[in-house]
Amino acid sequence: MPASGGKLARGPPDAGRCENVRSQRHHGPTDGSTFGPDEIPALPEAYTLIESASLAPLNTLRVAATARCLAELRDAEAIPHLLEHDAARHGVLVLGEGSNVLFTADFPGLVLRPAFEAVSVLEDSGATALVRAEAGMNWDSLVDWTLARGLSGLENLALIPGLVGAAPIQNIGAYGVEVADCVATVEAWDLVRRRLVRLSREDCGFGYRDSVFRRSPQRWIVTAVEFRLAQEPKARLDYAGVREELEATGSGEPTPRRVAEAVRRLRRRKLPDPAVIGNAGSFFKNPIVTRDEHRALARPNVVLAELSMGMSHDLEVAIHEGATLVRVGTAIFGARP
Ligand SMILES: Cc1cc2nc3c(=O)[nH]c(=O)nc-3n(C[C@H](O)[C@H](O)[C@H](O)COP(=O)(O)OP(=O)(O)OC[C@H]3O[C@@H](n4cnc5c(N)ncnc54)[C@H](O)[C@@H]3O)c2cc1C
Repeated sequence: MPASGGKLARGPPDAGRCENVRSQRHHGPTDGSTFGPDEIPALPEAYTLIESASLAPLNTLRVAATARCLAELRDAEAIPHLLEHDAARHGVLVLGEGSNVLFTADFPGLVLRPAFEAVSVLEDSGATALVRAEAGMNWDSLVDWTLARGLSGLENLALIPGLVGAAPIQNIGAYGVEVADCVATVEAWDLVRRRLVRLSREDCGFGYRDSVFRRSPQRWIVTAVEFRLAQEPKARLDYAGVREELEATGSGEPTPRRVAEAVRRLRRRKLPDPAVIGNAGSFFKNPIVTRDEHRALARPNVVLAELSMGMSHDLEVAIHEGATLVRVGTAIFGARP
């Protein structure tokens, strides 16, 4: 444990043995931080540490795992200090709402949970606005916050579970939109250079459910994301029934708010609420194949959605006991006559 003169604080009721729970306000150096102390919200305490913490309430599959130490982090400035913690020597895991993780064992190191969640408009050019949201803000709350200000860009991503800080990790996407479409800058703690850095959208190397953060998971702690959003809405409706859902619920302008509501209704019909039934959403990525491979897949019993162009190398079609099986990498899709 780092030396702490802080007072004892209560952890979550089911947070393991909770016998050593501490809170502390950290005022240490920021080691290359791109934001100064003036801009950091004045919080009474920077973090809470819980030893042998239960992770069961912190992942949507409710897998019962334990972390050697869990840090609820209310101030990004405390990150370098926490990385000196004993537990960090056994690994560091950033955990958001746990909607895209599967614990297969106890975590032997330090779990960091960003709980800083300030949001503001940094610039407003009239045509667009630059919004900065901190990593601990709930994603859907950010979508609502932008809609309340008449900003457009995130509406198709409404109701995706998780925190803002996790959104760039796998470049969340739904209903024809990816978060990369709106990301201007990602602010992250770089564990290799041991400083806070700002990555442009190009630096983030976004791909389909992919980014530099996902490719080097031990390197980055995302602390905030800046989004370039439009004042003039440009509705994207041509995907998986959004237009039909809007039409079914009345005519009129497809405002960003109406689009978000349509997306929320569609999502609620398709996926159980993780708060009610533990789940981690869809496990599958759409396979990406070339046009030739796409043609090769054509079979009377296989219904193929339109696929975008890309590279794929490991693909096979076979008929087995009357069923047509398509294998793409390790994923197997099947259809019976
Ligand atoms: C019902 C359901 C529906 C879903 N629908 C969609 C969907 O439509 N589209 C989609 O793209 N995803 C979807 N998901 C997946 C999930 O919502 C996203 O991946 C989301 O971004 C995860 O956020 P989280 O805060 O829960 O991250 P976690 O699950 O806590 O973490 C996911 C990964 O990101 C890392 N991470 C989290 N925060 C940070 C940070 N600040 N810095 C560095 N690394 C970090 C973690 O270490 C972990 O590797 C769905 C999940 C569920 C349960």
